[in-house]
Amino acid sequence: MNGNFGALAGHPAIIGGGLAGLMTALRLAPHPVVLLSKAPLGEEASTPWAQGGLAASLGEDDDPALHLADTLGAGDGLCDAEASGRILRAAPAAIDALARLGAAFDRTAAGALSLGLEAAHSRRRIVRAAGDGAGRELMRVLVAIIESVEARRLLAEDNTITGVLAAGPAGPFLLATQRVVLATGGIGGLFLDTTNPAGSFGQGLALAARAGAELRDLEFIQFHPTALDGPERPMKLVSEAVRGEGAVLVDETGLRFLAKEPGAELAPRDVVARGIWRHMAGGHRVYLDTREKPGADFARRFPAIAGFCQAAGIDPATQPIPVRPAAHYHMGGVAVDGAGRSSIAGLWACGEVASTGLHGANRLASNSLTEAVVCAGWVAESVAGTLAGRARTPVSVALPPAPDPTLVRPIMSRGAGLLRNREGLCEAARALLALASGPTAASDPATVGLMIVVMALRREESRGAHARTDFPRRDRVARRASLGFVDAIAAAREIDRHAHPTACRA
Ligand SMILES: Cc1cc2nc3c(=O)[nH]c(=O)nc-3n(C[C@H](O)[C@H](O)[C@H](O)COP(=O)(O)OP(=O)(O)OC[C@H]3O[C@@H](n4cnc5c(N)ncnc54)[C@H](O)[C@@H]3O)c2cc1C
Repeated sequence: MNGNFGALAGHPAIIGGGLAGLMTALRLAPHPVVLLSKAPLGEEASTPWAQGGLAASLGEDDDPALHLADTLGAGDGLCDAEASGRILRAAPAAIDALARLGAAFDRTAAGALSLGLEAAHSRRRIVRAAGDGAGRELMRVLVAIIESVEARRLLAEDNTITGVLAAGPAGPFLLATQRVVLATGGIGGLFLDTTNPAGSFGQGLALAARAGAELRDLEFIQFHPTALDGPERPMKLVSEAVRGEGAVLVDETGLRFLAKEPGAELAPRDVVARGIWRHMAGGHRVYLDTREKPGADFARRFPAIAGFCQAAGIDPATQPIPVRPAAHYHMGGVAVDGAGRSSIAGLWACGEVASTGLHGANRLASNSLTEAVVCAGWVAESVAGTLAGRARTPVSVALPPAPDPTLVRPIMSRGAGLLRNREGLCEAARALLALASGPTAASDPATVGLMIVVMALRREESRGAHARTDFPRRDRVARRASLGFVDAIAAAREIDRHAHPTACRA
């Protein structure tokens, strides 16, 4: 160990340098904080890649109740309506605060915010920057001082955080602190096809679970319907906003195969993604036809998307864009209360790693950046208002190896993808248990995968983004669920004992 990380001991530690982490640090100012980010700022975070924007009820024909109704509709009965209403009511003021910090959002000639439309929103309410560059713009405004290190374990005793064990350029070190905010982003990197940065594979969930925190609704993973279909990983995202501006989905024969679905191409993401998946399983290729709308205006409206399409040899003004679904956003996460507190004293979670209750079984497009900005303020207030308490010397453990999800990706993609069933989930659980058990690079990503799979097995219904082909119906009563590490491992061992899939229960 490189010691106790000297003068920084006792300061709140924020793990993650995306929007949630940076915003929490900013809201904690002038309190000193230590912000740990495993990659250089702006790299390997989802935030700078966000193309759509932030959803807030700012239009004259809009109000937070309408925004809430759309969010609850997309969440398919599983949102926490009270938490969602509280977050969405705070959204317009949060956008205003970002604008005052200097975020250059797109505006009309008259100076009003120019609002975009996205799937399943009944009003124009997406605040954008530079067309499709909202995330880049937010990062530009918020960049602060950062330590370039990776958190590998949270240390906890008596259900209370005592420190963070991390690895930095100068080797391993231990930060003694009783206040930790997890802001580590999503889990798309656990799948072969994803739009997330390669480093987003749920490390925060592994840290929280191993420290004893409860995780919630992990089975709900949003697959974005339209990632650019090509060899590049992570896959480039062709934003929903493109469909919001009139582009349609067609197959190689030109058939608009979703035209008869309610909402057609602007139906909730899970419906569109499954529609594409099924059509592809029937042997078709799928394209986003942008030739008529936005047509010649495409490059001006969506400069970043036009740029990567051109790099792949496609001109969206004259050629349809090949697309396929990809793991994109995690609705589940560390179970937190209205102040972002987890079930462990001294551990908060914010941003995509947290489960606040806003997203339910399926996220409404562009609600996540809004959630990160709004909740960061509440987390910061709670951290600042929590006394550090009597300093304890953390009992350290051996530094685990740097996590690597390579072995986990094919297992998750096969068993826990867009369409699931008991047999596939049980097979995945057995393979993941074997990987999770050893102190290897695969063990943390496999632990997260295993917890997702156990929760997916326990949910014997189809709801929102969780689609079970063996349980296609939705239960009458919506039920949220949580899971701890010990319970997950016990459930996986039980599954492992039953060779036959019909006997396999989590
Ligand atoms: C292509 C794409 C487009 C999107 N578009 C939109 C959009 O238009 N609107 C919207 O609302 N949402 C959008 N989303 C979702 C949204 O961008 C994310 O949910 C949000 O940015 C997550 O922010 P975050 O701060 O929680 O995590 P991130 O921005 O992903 O940051 C996570 C940080 O944690 C760090 N980290 C992880 N593990 C460790 C560790 N062990 N130690 C130290 N550091 C660690 C990472 O290096 C990174 O700095 C999009 C996502 C993608 C991938």
